[in-house]
Parts: sequence; C-alpha cells; structure tokens
Amino acid sequence: MVFNGVHCVVKYVFITGGVLSSVGKGITSSSIGKMLQARGYSVSAMKIDPYVNVDAGTMNPFMHGEVFVTEDGGETDLDLGHYERFLDINLSRLSNITTGKVYASVIEKERKGEYLGQCVQIIPHVTDEIKRSIRSAASASGADVFLVEIGGTIGDIEGLPFLEAVRQMRLEEEANDTLFVHVALVPILDSTKEQKSKPCQHSVQEMRRIGLQPDMIVARCRVPLDKDVKKKIALFGSVPVEAVYTSFDAECIYQVPLNLDQQGMGEYILKRLGLDARRPDWSPWSSIVEEFMRASKPVRIAMCGKYTKLSDSYVSIIEALKHAGAKVGARVSTAWIETTKYEEDPARVEELGEYDGVMILPGFGPRGTEGKIRAVNYARVNKKPLLGICYGFQLAIVEYARNVIGLEGANTTEVDPGSRHPVIDLLPEQKNLGSLGGTMRLGAYRILVEPGTMVHRLYGSDVVVERHRHRYEVNPRYWDLLRENGLVLSGWSEDRARVEFAELPSHPFFLGTQSHPEFRSRPGRPSMPYLGFVSAAAGMDLPKGAHKN
Ligand code: GLN
Repeated sequence: MVFNGVHCVVKYVFITGGVLSSVGKGITSSSIGKMLQARGYSVSAMKIDPYVNVDAGTMNPFMHGEVFVTEDGGETDLDLGHYERFLDINLSRLSNITTGKVYASVIEKERKGEYLGQCVQIIPHVTDEIKRSIRSAASASGADVFLVEIGGTIGDIEGLPFLEAVRQMRLEEEANDTLFVHVALVPILDSTKEQKSKPCQHSVQEMRRIGLQPDMIVARCRVPLDKDVKKKIALFGSVPVEAVYTSFDAECIYQVPLNLDQQGMGEYILKRLGLDARRPDWSPWSSIVEEFMRASKPVRIAMCGKYTKLSDSYVSIIEALKHAGAKVGARVSTAWIETTKYEEDPARVEELGEYDGVMILPGFGPRGTEGKIRAVNYARVNKKPLLGICYGFQLAIVEYARNVIGLEGANTTEVDPGSRHPVIDLLPEQKNLGSLGGTMRLGAYRILVEPGTMVHRLYGSDVVVERHRHRYEVNPRYWDLLRENGLVLSGWSEDRARVEFAELPSHPFFLGTQSHPEFRSRPGRPSMPYLGFVSAAAGMDLPKGAHKN
C-alpha cells in the first residue's frame, strides 16, 4: 500500500486474545516474530493498550505489571519487553499506543482546526488515527512483517475502536498482507480432565460479530490439544484444522516458538502471507534454549520490594536473572519478600541467610523503604551478594550513610523531604515540575565506567549504555563523604554530574545502579551487572565482559 507517498510492502499480523487476559498473547506474538526471523524475515512489533492512560508510566505496577522503558524513554507495556527479548530488537515509544494517546492526538488536531469544521467521530476520525499510528510505526520500523498485538480481551468495550480500525485495514491492504491470529484459553476441568473448547468458540463468535474472522487460532492450554478438540475449534472457529495450534505450558518461555513451529505454524504463516517458504534456521535460538534447560545449579534470590504480589511487576528483572543464570549453568529461583514485614519485626531479616543473593528492587514512595534498608544492612554485614536497582541503589546509599558513616536521619527526600542528611535528592530538573506523566529522567543514557572497578571488569568497557527511569539521584554534596568511607562510585553520567554505579570493594558483591540494566538483557546475552550478581550468588568467579552497546 502507499503510505505518506511511499510504497511499502509491510505484512501485518494482528493478534487478539479471548476468554481472559494474561492468556499469553505477548509470548505468542513474540513467538510468531521469532518464526519469521528464523526464516530470514525482519520483524518489528507494536502493542495496543485500550486503556485511557496516555502511557503505562502512571499506572501502578501492582495492577498492571512492570512499566517497560524503551531506549527513547517511552514508558510502555511489559509486552514490549517480551518482543525485545525474543526478537533481540530495540523498539521505540511508537510501538505502544493507547486510547489516551490516540484521543490526545485527535483532540489536538481538532483544536488546531485540522478537521475543517467536520463533526469529529470515533469512525472515521479515531479509527483513522489508529490506522495512521499503526502504519507509521510499521513504516518507521522498516520491517518485512509488523506484529500488532491488541491488548485486552475480545468483547471489551474499550477495544472496539481498535478492532474496527484493524478490520478496515484488512480491507485496505492487499489480500495476503494481513493475518489475524486469535489466542484463547482452553481450560481443563479438574474433575473430568476434559479440555473445554466452548469459551474459545464463543470468543471467535464475538470476533465475527464485529466483522473479524481469525485466520489462525492458538489455544492456550496446559497440554497439547486433543485431536477432536482441535477439530471442534476449527469447525466452530471457521478455520482449517491445520490452522489450530496449542501453546502448551513450557518449562522455559523461550521454548514456545519452537513448540509452535513444530506444529507447522511458521510454514502456515508464510503461506497465508504469501511469503517465500524458506527453511528456518533455529540453531542459534535452540542453543540458547538448551542453555536454559541445562542450567541446574540452584541459586535462590530474595526479591525485596513492595509490589511483590504480582510477579509481572518485575518481569524484566526476573528474565535478566534467568538470562544470567543460564549463562553460568545456574537455575535461578526467586522468592518475594514484602519488606514491610522487616519493619514490623526487624528480627525476621535473618531469614535472608537462607538465600544466595539479595535484590533490592526499584520502586516509589515510602512504603517498605525502612524494611529494604534493613535488608541492605543484612546483606552488607553478612557479606551476601547484593544488587540494588534504582530505588534499591538509592536505599543502599541511605543504609551506608546511616550505618557506616553515622549520618543520623540520612534518607531520600522522596521519603523524608525534611531529612537532615538528604543523601538522595531530586534531580535539579525535577524540582519545579507540575505533572507526573512522562517527566522522569527516562531512557538510554551513556555511562562512564571508572577503570579499575568491579563494574569496569564486568562490562569490560569504559562507556556503556543503560536505560533509566528516575527522579532522584545521589546528592553531590555527599559524594566525598561516601568515598572517604570506603564506597566506590564506579559509574557516572556523561557530564559527570550524577552517580550511576556504586560498589563496595570490601564485600564479595555489593553493587547498586541508578540505571535499569534489566531492560537491555537478552537471552544468550545477559546484562553484565546481573551476570556478576548471579555468578557471585552461585559462588563462582566474576565474569569478565566485553560490553557492546
Ligand atoms: N523513586 C526513585 C526515583 O524516582 C526510584 C525510581 C525507580 O526505582 N525506578 O528516583
């Protein structure tokens, strides 16, 4: 089709979900991308989130899962993290649109008078804006195939304008340039052990009611679908039997593309999209998956934080730990520690002795911070490997200031604005901000790594790039005091105005960073701070890295 005057042959794969949310659309979308990549096609992806927030940045990770930060500082849905990790690509903020974002731009155009006196309506104006966003992200990516995952569940009111927009795209694009994949849950009843296809049938019916017919159905089920259940889904879903696949439970999520491709999915996608039927080369991916499967040395990590009820709140951190584990043959398991319990009963912090390493997680606000500081203290004094990320790093500095330097009342001004020793304070540019959305220090920044430090050995490089999402930083007034008391400030922002890494040479592994290295970690290519941490927790020598930005 012609877009912005340029002829572009992008193939679109639209992925919808049925029956309930969290059915695994993100992993299925990523797996489809991987199958195409394995056949030499370039792939990029977008997530549509029908909620009214302009972006995920203002949402509680406890409700919605982690906020994934892109290189360009987009605060996006966690599915972008899956796409980046599976496809080994960097996405931009264009890869995540929401109802809020679409309406904001329609309303801005209306205020500028761009609709020339028309009555502005959901169809065509909002749907046109949605199609424009999808096509411009696709053309900016330059990929052969563009995956568009539509969040939520078929039948949600919020999702309707997006489904209408993609329905129109199917008509506007060439016949074999779009493909609709529907992912739906097939539950198994405990009592009869039967696989139940009815919810899946109904969600396809609901799709048809709004004018969409899936080309393929992926059943999310604990085990592979029985033949007759598959047939039933094909019949009621109006697709050939060979277009029904099962995404069954896998020991490691990176196996899912292989499991789906073995069922013939990749070949079928190529056929439906009119792409050359190339043989896949799975060898690099399979050897990564084998590393995950082989990893056997148990390493237990205590995850100290406050949004610990939903593991999706820290999905990139968990994946980064697993990537690191797979590299060194360690099978990482994580246990959630709600640090408020160490505030109620300080003696309970001793339980950290049962773990091989302590992670102090990112976060916001006062709840649980004193407990996190106790956890840092335990790890520092008892020489347990510790990795502090962002807020975790800041609170490690607070702990050091209080208990090593003896600065009574030391704190971050996020918790105690009147602190006598504000060792962590607002960034200068954050002091007079009126609004919260999109105003943190966000995205990828270069970091200067101090030669001769542990972080330098880990990365094997003087300059590295990591992503960020914070408002506060180590207060420059305390840098000297921290250094004089044994803490090594080992990484700096490019202008040397902010501390990015700090470490403790007298400890086997005590590292904190203002950045979020987990967002750049990939299976087969783990983030070096995580690799160092997991190696230390596994009792192994620290690796020496050759960091590539
Ligand atoms: N609340 C801290 C800040 O804004 C840390 C943020 C984080 O952990 N992502 O600086």
